[in-house]
Amino acid sequence: MKKLDEVIGYSGPEHGNRVPSGNSPPPRHRSTNFGTRNGVDAQPSPRSLRRTGNNGGSFSTESTPKSPRIPLETRPKPGDWSMDDSWEHPPARKQPESFPQESPAVCLKCRDFSTPDHHASRFPRQSYNNIRQLAIELTSPFSDPIDKARAIFTWMHENIAYDVENFFNGTVKASTPEATLRSGLAVCAGYADLFAAMASHANLKAVVVQGHGKGYGYCRVTDGRIPKFKAGHAWNAVKFPHGWHLIDCCWGAGSVSEQKFNKRFAPSFFTQSPEEFRCRHFPSKASNQHCRDTISWETYILMDDGPTIYRDFTDARVDFSPYTLEPATLVLAPKTRYQFRVTRSCEHQGQTPLVVLLCVDGKEKLPLRNDGRGGLTCTGTTGSTGTTLSLMYITNLDGKPSGSFTVDYYESRVGRAAYSFSGLCQWTVG
Ligand SMILES: [Zn+2]
Repeated sequence: MKKLDEVIGYSGPEHGNRVPSGNSPPPRHRSTNFGTRNGVDAQPSPRSLRRTGNNGGSFSTESTPKSPRIPLETRPKPGDWSMDDSWEHPPARKQPESFPQESPAVCLKCRDFSTPDHHASRFPRQSYNNIRQLAIELTSPFSDPIDKARAIFTWMHENIAYDVENFFNGTVKASTPEATLRSGLAVCAGYADLFAAMASHANLKAVVVQGHGKGYGYCRVTDGRIPKFKAGHAWNAVKFPHGWHLIDCCWGAGSVSEQKFNKRFAPSFFTQSPEEFRCRHFPSKASNQHCRDTISWETYILMDDGPTIYRDFTDARVDFSPYTLEPATLVLAPKTRYQFRVTRSCEHQGQTPLVVLLCVDGKEKLPLRNDGRGGLTCTGTTGSTGTTLSLMYITNLDGKPSGSFTVDYYESRVGRAAYSFSGLCQWTVG
């Protein structure tokens, strides 16, 4: 039997490197100092944790994809880069005020993109050698700029793979949108440049934004020493009817682990609000934050990354919001009572039908209950330093799939029925 934290491993690696050039390739492979145009921005793979339990909730575990166990506070050797579990989504963070609420008309999180997504799947890259023709065919059925941009974003995922070979060999060279279309390979700048080129042919207003991204190899600052700003990532700003919107086609296309590209669609990099987006993207120019206020480099780089978020947390069938997750800090005080709360990704989606449990140090399991404000909540007391707390949801109980039974039913059956569950997020006690 493995302990929960042994399987989950570790987020927020401590590299002993004060410069969070979070997007740089492993130093031993680096032959030059990459500029942004050369792209240095691979994404760590997300992880999903699935466990089966019965009665006592034993932890038979399976991690997808399998990740090396990296104990907390271990300093990886050069080239031994840890994964940042929360790569896929900006971390939940301390928020003095809530994010501005969008009306349903412009809420991208609950908008139905099935039509542009399906349309995008009909244009294989190999059939095109002309960006203009591709862009027009891809976007012309849609009148709304949001759907046009979405079709291009989804097409990128379908057709452009992250260039892991050149990235890890330190041989990334500046590319052109035409060359990216031909090769089907790119790093961040290649994705951003191709999106901008296709967008211009689709009569969209779009630009490439350069800056820092908390991606592969990102080092959380733990000693308060502020590193110098260093750009190493690129993404896009695109003008929608309600204003400038930020998207990351590269991170939306897949992720990188063990020097391999895992093609996996991450649509949240199309739907995040600018306030959410800047939790992991800091542009070189403040005006490219496109938020009501601007934050400084110091604020961005010292921002608490929040609890470790696992893949299922934001998958469509779960669809929780990392930004409203409470507590918002990764490390919790020992022997302290906290309120835990989780909500859907946007306010228009109603109450989740899932049964979610708070698991304290792999043992005690407390069900979360509806708080009447669209969230699930419970209070729990942390254990001693070095222990963990996590949220999980029941994926199957008594043969019933998640969403088809209530928390009361779970409580009536717990201890007597077989169930399976999956990890959602985790805090550490320090
Ligand atoms: Zn919504």
